[in-house]
Amino acid sequence: MGESRQGPLNLLWLQSGGCGGCTLSLFCAESPDLITTLEAAGIKLLWHPSLSEACGADLRELLQQIRANEVRLDILCLEGAVVTGPNGTGRFHMLSGTGQSMMECLHTLAQLAHYVVAVGSCAAYGGITAGGGNPSEACGLQYTGTDKSGLLGADFRAGSALPVVNIAGCPTHPNWVTETLMQIAAGQMNEQGIDQVGRPRSYADHLVHHGCPRNEYYEFKASAVKPSDLGCMMEYMGCLGTQAHADCNTRLWNGEGSCLRGGYACINCTAPGFEEPGHAFSETPSIAGIPIGLPTDMPKAWFVALASLSKAATPKRLKENAVSDHIRLTPGSRDRKDS
Ligand code: SF4
Ligand code: SF4
Repeated sequence: MGESRQGPLNLLWLQSGGCGGCTLSLFCAESPDLITTLEAAGIKLLWHPSLSEACGADLRELLQQIRANEVRLDILCLEGAVVTGPNGTGRFHMLSGTGQSMMECLHTLAQLAHYVVAVGSCAAYGGITAGGGNPSEACGLQYTGTDKSGLLGADFRAGSALPVVNIAGCPTHPNWVTETLMQIAAGQMNEQGIDQVGRPRSYADHLVHHGCPRNEYYEFKASAVKPSDLGCMMEYMGCLGTQAHADCNTRLWNGEGSCLRGGYACINCTAPGFEEPGHAFSETPSIAGIPIGLPTDMPKAWFVALASLSKAATPKRLKENAVSDHIRLTPGSRDRKDS
């Protein structure tokens, strides 16, 4: 694929059990915008439920042409979980006018596609749609949570020989999607480009903690204790930024935002099973005052030693600002008496 192909890459985007939020997020792509990005990458959008004028009959004809190998399916994107209920029939989500479930349709199309891309944590792992009692029997394209027991199963490989590329996130950052599509279009997406749960490493090799404006509070374990406090949200407020594989604080949302910058803890929405943490998202479970979920790569003993040392050395400025909704004490100066 890539340089040797004839004509543009054909992309088909389907939706199933989800909220459509990843599409809404994708529309926020800027510099360049989505349409410009697709054109520049040489990607032709065959159909998208929110962008295409083509109606149901047109889509059914297109699907028929793909099945008959009259139209090449280079990239199949699914947004939303695969709905397999009731009782594994998939009939909770029928593809209108076909008598076929979306589940069956996806299964057929995935065998014909050169790349299969799950957009969002629902399509990747089941996500929010699979939470709770999972009444719709939702799963991901290749995974159910951390198990490779999704619709296509552990051994599935698309025509490119790649497993499903899981652009996980709830929702996905627009650039995670456009960047992955561009990598595919350039023929540069390979097995080394995705991590152990199928996420593109272009964003999953980072941690949300990187670049968080609360890093100084984190260093001194100056913690927020209630919503709107400025301190680090790891100790009490449920922040999983030190474990979450994403670049939300360095590749900002809409050019300036992130969950942390908006005052919300990172709930690790790019991870399989994030929807069922076993406790409230806004709480940090701890044993004897030590958070259960410690930063990636850090042994517990080190964390405990560093945390107690940091707390003993916390400057008054950080201690007070951490539990305030605005800066009370400004940084001092060596030349000033208030330092
Ligand atoms: S709030 Fe979360 S992401 Fe920010 S510094 Fe604390 S642990 Fe890291
Ligand atoms: S900061 Fe965390 S919860 Fe928020 S979008 Fe990024 S990975 Fe998801």
